[in-house]
Amino acid sequence: MVAKNALLYLSRQEGLKNVLTKMKIFNKVTKRFVAGETIEQAVEVVKELNSRGIAASFDHLGESIKNEAEANAEVEEYARILDTINERDLKCGVSIKPTQLGLDINFDLFVKNASKIVEKAASCKRFVRIDMEDSGHTDATLQAFRQLRSKFDNVGIVIQAYLYRSKADVEALLKEGASIRLCKGAYDEPASVAFPKKSDTDANYIVLMQMMLDSGIYHGLATHDEAMINAAVEYTAKKGIDKKAFEFQMLYGVRRDLQEKLAREGYNVRVYVPYGSHWYPYFMRRLAERPANVWFVLKNMFKG
Ligand SMILES: Cc1cc2nc3c(=O)[nH]c(=O)nc-3n(C[C@H](O)[C@H](O)[C@H](O)COP(=O)(O)OP(=O)(O)OC[C@H]3O[C@@H](n4cnc5c(N)ncnc54)[C@H](O)[C@@H]3O)c2cc1C
Repeated sequence: MVAKNALLYLSRQEGLKNVLTKMKIFNKVTKRFVAGETIEQAVEVVKELNSRGIAASFDHLGESIKNEAEANAEVEEYARILDTINERDLKCGVSIKPTQLGLDINFDLFVKNASKIVEKAASCKRFVRIDMEDSGHTDATLQAFRQLRSKFDNVGIVIQAYLYRSKADVEALLKEGASIRLCKGAYDEPASVAFPKKSDTDANYIVLMQMMLDSGIYHGLATHDEAMINAAVEYTAKKGIDKKAFEFQMLYGVRRDLQEKLAREGYNVRVYVPYGSHWYPYFMRRLAERPANVWFVLKNMFKG
């Protein structure tokens, strides 16, 4: 817990980020979790996943953008990604982060930018998932999602099982017919809003997952936790829910064995493929999820 909190704290330290991102040796080890710095490198990863029967979702790394020009540049990058997905006929959607598209600058800017991406994705029949960031952004993200959904049906949202509010959010979203990606939650949240104990988050994940599976709407179950995955497999078998009525989602570089096993067993599997030069906070959150990864990083930094 101490190591996890320390790593989450470091993920917010811009000064350290500036030093580390200049170190070639450090960039080398990020390859475990980041597909590359360019679209072309990420496309190679997606092609390889598709060839193994696994779908993908591109994420151009970037968050907490503070000026409008940067947010607009992200919209252009996503237009390029969608053109590439379409031209290469990849089995792939996109994931976007609200603060990457201007939510911290102003709400309307985010909605305008996200609308452009969702509209472009609709024109090439692709799906856009809005990632969920820290709890300070939850209300605004849900509000923006609802505005987008009133115009488009190719957009979905993320719910984090560690938040106390999530059961009520899932209930409301299911009534609205929304597609949800359920994850445990990756940010450093206070006990006033999120379960401090992992066992409570896990128990809530199962409750929310069952509500989602019962809804008949196509959802994503994002987890590498075999206990959660087994619970979904058992629940759907018991309820006679088709294997193709939902999908498992995992992160690039994490539990590739499990991704392949589930795909072989006939489940839909999607892998989240992040790329770009702004990898620092994403990478640090992955280390925080499993502090043993720090050992992996250190070992590889000093390999020739
Ligand atoms: C597709 C996808 C999208 C996501 N989108 C969001 C989002 O929008 N917002 C958000 O807050 N969070 C998001 N997350 C992150 C999520 O909230 C968790 O932080 C992360 O998935 C770890 O939780 P877990 O369910 O895998 O279970 P855990 O209990 O954390 O881990 C279970 C097991 O999985 C393996 N594992 C987990 N993480 C790692 C890792 N980094 N490296 C190596 N092994 C690991 C280990 O074997 C571990 O024992 C997303 C996750 C996925 C898979």
